[in-house]
Amino acid sequence: MQTADRMNSIPFSEIRKIFEEVARREKAGEKIIHLNIGRPDFDTPEHIKEAAKKALDEGKVHYASNWGIPELREAISQKLARDNNLSYDPANEIIVTVGANEAILIAMMGLLNPGDEILIPDPCWLHYFYCAQLAEAVPVSVPMKEENGFIPRIEDFKSRLTDKTKMIVITTPNNPTGSVYSEEDLQEVAQLAKEHDLFVLSDEIYEKMVYDGRRHISIGSLPGMRERTITVNGFSKAYSMTGWRLGWVAVDKALASALIRIHQYTTVCTTTFAQWGAAAALTGPQTDLEMMVTEFDRRRNLVYSALESMPGISTGKPEGAFYIFPNIKGLGKTADEITHYLLDEAKVAVVPGPVFGDYAKDYIRLSYANSYENLEIAMENMSAALTKL
Ligand code: PMP
Repeated sequence: MQTADRMNSIPFSEIRKIFEEVARREKAGEKIIHLNIGRPDFDTPEHIKEAAKKALDEGKVHYASNWGIPELREAISQKLARDNNLSYDPANEIIVTVGANEAILIAMMGLLNPGDEILIPDPCWLHYFYCAQLAEAVPVSVPMKEENGFIPRIEDFKSRLTDKTKMIVITTPNNPTGSVYSEEDLQEVAQLAKEHDLFVLSDEIYEKMVYDGRRHISIGSLPGMRERTITVNGFSKAYSMTGWRLGWVAVDKALASALIRIHQYTTVCTTTFAQWGAAAALTGPQTDLEMMVTEFDRRRNLVYSALESMPGISTGKPEGAFYIFPNIKGLGKTADEITHYLLDEAKVAVVPGPVFGDYAKDYIRLSYANSYENLEIAMENMSAALTKL
């Protein structure tokens, strides 16, 4: 018996392999500081949990609309208008999904034909590559170079265009580089998308984590972009709700009808009582989010200045998300070797760059979603370990 051919190019997640290695060491008694995790280290705010508990107590335990409960879609629609200058009808243009993950998969499955090409800035979260392959489309890497602040140059998109190109992915702020697109960067991409009649999938999951006065801009809000942009977002990062598995996709109704049918035949709808918690996240106080972002900023400054002074490491200062992506070329070892060396010598878990694409081999990713105290210890240990190299 054979599994489907399309699965041949889809590996198990490389990030998971690091997790397993760390878990194995911890089981053997080692104490490791996790800078490898892509999730906030805070609890979900209390009022969000209370709203979900209340929904359970009130018997909101049945199937919901495929699109999501109307109250949540309305809250998402208002949030998109308020924060992103986007206007989407909660009745038929917003789908509540099982995280941004599902939103990306249904967008690609619903909009791409086998053989269509999709331009993906790299280094990136590789989910886009594998979702494209599940849709039997062809992912094409577009370099995001350190010297350009990890923002892809428009020439690099243009030189990869073919008559098969159908979609561009934009992730701002980006995982793993923490880079944030400016309005001018987005305008260039928008111009290209309009000229060549391309979709733009805009992953905005880290939109709330921007620093140094930077402003997040949604590409779908630029003129002429609404009908071709698929805006993906979710609750995982802003409200520390990764385990709730809730996100959304906002898209013109002409396209939403394709996406909702995939959602219908796979998940039906997301967990009903959890959606009540998500609605409270958007409509309730935002003080926990503000506190979390302030704390991430403090940690970002700590990690940036510590890394900058380490031998063999060079790094720019990320402007968004909660990652930093230092260049380790000066250490004369591969990213995998450095990752293992840091585990052995500094008891610090990071993620080797190659997990994030073809243009990431000289880097490691550190997540600063860990306590300030742990980050201080991790930076000291790393510095001592690298000095010995
Ligand atoms: N987009 C990006 C860029 C991410 O880094 C992640 C999580 N690693 C996600 C989406 C996943 O979000 P969710 O938990 O909503 O599926």
